[in-house]
Amino acid sequence: MLPKFIPVNEPLLDSNEKKYLNECIDSGWISSEGSFVKKFEESFAKIVNRKFGIAVCNGTAALDLALKVLNLPVASEVIMPTFTIISCAAAIIRNNLKPVLVDSDPITWNMDVNSIEKKITEKTKAIMIVHIYGFPVDVDPILKLAKKYNLKVIEDAAEMHGQFYKGKPCGSFGDISIFSFYPNKHITTGEGGMVVTDDEKLAKKCEYFRNLCFKKEKRFIHDDLGFNYRITNLQAAVGLAQLEKLNEHVNKKREIGKFYTKSFKDIDFLQLPLEETEYANNIYWVYGIVLKKNYPHDAEFIMKELSKVGIGTRPFFWPMHEQPIFKKMDLFKNENYPISENIARRGFYIPSGLGISLEQMKIVAKKVKEVLYASF
Ligand SMILES: *Cc1c(COP(=O)(O)O)cnc(C)c1O
Repeated sequence: MLPKFIPVNEPLLDSNEKKYLNECIDSGWISSEGSFVKKFEESFAKIVNRKFGIAVCNGTAALDLALKVLNLPVASEVIMPTFTIISCAAAIIRNNLKPVLVDSDPITWNMDVNSIEKKITEKTKAIMIVHIYGFPVDVDPILKLAKKYNLKVIEDAAEMHGQFYKGKPCGSFGDISIFSFYPNKHITTGEGGMVVTDDEKLAKKCEYFRNLCFKKEKRFIHDDLGFNYRITNLQAAVGLAQLEKLNEHVNKKREIGKFYTKSFKDIDFLQLPLEETEYANNIYWVYGIVLKKNYPHDAEFIMKELSKVGIGTRPFFWPMHEQPIFKKMDLFKNENYPISENIARRGFYIPSGLGISLEQMKIVAKKVKEVLYASF
């Protein structure tokens, strides 16, 4: 008999989700007008130490909105990591700005903070920080650069609920910061996202652009072109229940990370996620593994072998400068970022969602080792 497939992510919804959803249904408040939206926004903003939270329909929309309301001059340059999700570059491009890339740090997989300054030009107006896979970017040097060159900071903390950098919550560092609540994040609303900021003007603009730029006085007369990026009361109800469990979720993620690290630490051809530095401890948004150069196969091969034995995996992000769509748009021509190119080809992550059981983790660890050694 084939073993049951272990998916790369299963969410955990074992708290007040049903209770709050029933309240929505019993009261008939299911749209974005319901009271859970405000409650979720306020509770979430407080947890990440921000004055304002504006909930939206997903993390990608949150990035779009963040760049929209910053209102940078057309064709300004925004420095960002090449190793990230496409949402980051897409938001920059959709707002008529130009993404400028930097390579990754080989150990943290985050943007290499030392290669930012040489990318700054007259046209640079912002830096987009993206925290990758549960380990924060070294934020302080970036904030220093932002101050020196008068740049805005956009912080993508989509993978960072409950994470801290030098004791301060991730999501509290940007002029504007964003989160996602996709089901593989530490807290989920099914689909959902949030913009957070301390700037009241930016927050008001986010609310305005989130909701089609309706005006209070004259509802169907518009001065600006907005989006419908609203979140539903149903999603916010789930989000509020999830938020009550944030600490437990983060603790469980750390247990998952520790278990896998213990299982794999003696395998000399694997690079495992960084556990800690003086500024942060990993919260393992996903448990990523990079096959070192002394291993004869790439991630794609191993992922195929693992799926044959019932283990779900996902590849690492694919760098922005190697995306077919951006090649078609003539972006990033002849640019090379060797660290990102390498981890994209040799990195993947294994089942590490909040719904995973200890039994499943044991099976995953055993199968991963078997498959890796069988092909060595
Ligand atoms: C998940 C994620 C997003 C996008 O969030 P969605 O809700 O899926 O649109 C953006 N940035 C990063 C770093 C992410 O991990």
